[in-house]
Amino acid sequence: MSMRSQPELYRGVKILHDPVRNKGTAYTDAERDFLKLRGLLPPRIHTPAEQELRVLGNIREKPTDLERYLYLVALQDRNETLFYQVVMNHIEEMMPIIYTPTVGKACQEFQHIYRTPRGFYVSLQDRGKIRELMQNWPHKEARIMVVTDGERILGLGDLGADGMGIPIGKLALYTACSGIHPTHCMPVMLDVGTDNEKLLNDPLYNGLERRRERGERYDELVEEFIEAANEVFPGILIQFEDFGNRNAFRFLEQYRNRACIFNDDIQGTGAVALAGIIAAMRVSGSRLEEQKILFLGAGEAGIGIADSFVAALAELGIAAEEARKQCWFFDSKGLLVQGRGNMTSQKLPYAHPHHHIVDFLEAVKALKPTAILGLSGQPSTFTKDVVEAMAEFNDRPIIFALSNPTSQAECTAEHAYSWSEGRAIFASGSPFDPVKIGNQTFVPGQGNNAYIFPGVGLGVIVSRARTVTNEMFLAAAHSLANQVSESDLERGRIYPSLTRIRQVSALIARDVAKIAYDEGLTDKEEPDDILADIHEYMYQPIYPHYA
Ligand code: NAD
Repeated sequence: MSMRSQPELYRGVKILHDPVRNKGTAYTDAERDFLKLRGLLPPRIHTPAEQELRVLGNIREKPTDLERYLYLVALQDRNETLFYQVVMNHIEEMMPIIYTPTVGKACQEFQHIYRTPRGFYVSLQDRGKIRELMQNWPHKEARIMVVTDGERILGLGDLGADGMGIPIGKLALYTACSGIHPTHCMPVMLDVGTDNEKLLNDPLYNGLERRRERGERYDELVEEFIEAANEVFPGILIQFEDFGNRNAFRFLEQYRNRACIFNDDIQGTGAVALAGIIAAMRVSGSRLEEQKILFLGAGEAGIGIADSFVAALAELGIAAEEARKQCWFFDSKGLLVQGRGNMTSQKLPYAHPHHHIVDFLEAVKALKPTAILGLSGQPSTFTKDVVEAMAEFNDRPIIFALSNPTSQAECTAEHAYSWSEGRAIFASGSPFDPVKIGNQTFVPGQGNNAYIFPGVGLGVIVSRARTVTNEMFLAAAHSLANQVSESDLERGRIYPSLTRIRQVSALIARDVAKIAYDEGLTDKEEPDDILADIHEYMYQPIYPHYA
């Protein structure tokens, strides 16, 4: 950025209070003269690396993860470039702080820790005025929104307007993991009330003081919001996040062909778990079409994964009806079988003829699956007997305990490896430390959605795709699975290291963008080199020069 392009507005103390332009003690002598910063900063000039050292020292001496979260949020509000530099250079350490599990704790405490405004709030009171409201957003170039209504935050339930931490955290991951520009990101909370008694009785709660609206007024608000978003920010990508089960599925169906939207809990989870299963095939030497999967939990995540698996089998020429027979579900009411009452339309295709079973171990023994995937939010449900049974009829049993946070995982990494004599191919939703059994060290894979959504979003944004298709998620799953190295697989790891996330996301984005160009889903002309076009867009946390 040249000196001449700096408006007077951003000289002096104002630039120090602007998180996008603030460089703290890193302003050079010439910049300090030009920007009239003399006297406003201590004289020593620090490099970004020195500033990073200070931040790391501060973070690491905080007593709790919530304190670390607060420190990082404050840094983001003060110096965005340095925030992203630190997060990107230490992604494995920082991701669990800015996202799950710490962000969950932050949302639970949101009314007490609230300090500075971030994100965009639309409430029931704003009906009829959402377009007008959106004009208040300071960045006219918004290209992605992550929106929630706070009804089902992680595994924590209804947190109402305090769920805002989720869109904020997810968008920070978009920037860190795939280089979406911070000013292109718009976190959104649709506040339609809450049924959380504790929040309703808390005078510090930030949201509407009323029970959750579930009727027509709610649907009208969502409709108005989608229309306004597309008018004010044409073609904006909208990610639905942490909506209750019923709304998540129906909004996805309702809007997927009308707007550029997707649901990460359903489609992102589907793709990341599918990638894990494809990579597991590389470990076991078996084939997708030979798998029989038993899901524990038939919600957004479980059904999303099964639908992705069915789509992957369709690519191999297997009809959906046949492919679904390879997926079995066990939910809070037991095995999902034909004739069981009260089934949602998403579950119905997966209800197969079988006698009803209410004990999970019994279901495992009866069906003899090659894989069990835990998405129930119920800890310790993959018991020793369950894992031993899986190891009895599978040489390499696939055991994914995907429920978050760590405390809710269906089993620990250590249990999966030790109870299967080291033969399990294991992945979890939250991170587990490596496990040593005898002379062998196993590195558990983390089926983190952050492997998928940043790359998909980047591909859609750079190609300016009009819609997000299932085919894009399938391509993302294959791309991710292909990027697991042989040495990862040798250590039992079925996802690449998070330290490579930017490269992983760029290659996913290339494959997603290719679909947009090939399928005519964009008006943008296909560039000669799609990957170079993607790299050119990607944000880097580097200070601009002002003098
Ligand atoms: P959801 O509320 O939509 O579904 C939960 C499902 O679990 C329901 O079908 C319910 O019937 C079932 N269930 C509840 N108690 C049960 C029990 N005792 N036995 C069997 N089934 C039971 O939630 P969701 O969005 O599908 O998420 C489920 C879990 O998956 C959460 O813990 C979430 O953190 C995790 N998840 C992980 C990832 C990931 O690892 N990448 C992604 C998304 C979700």
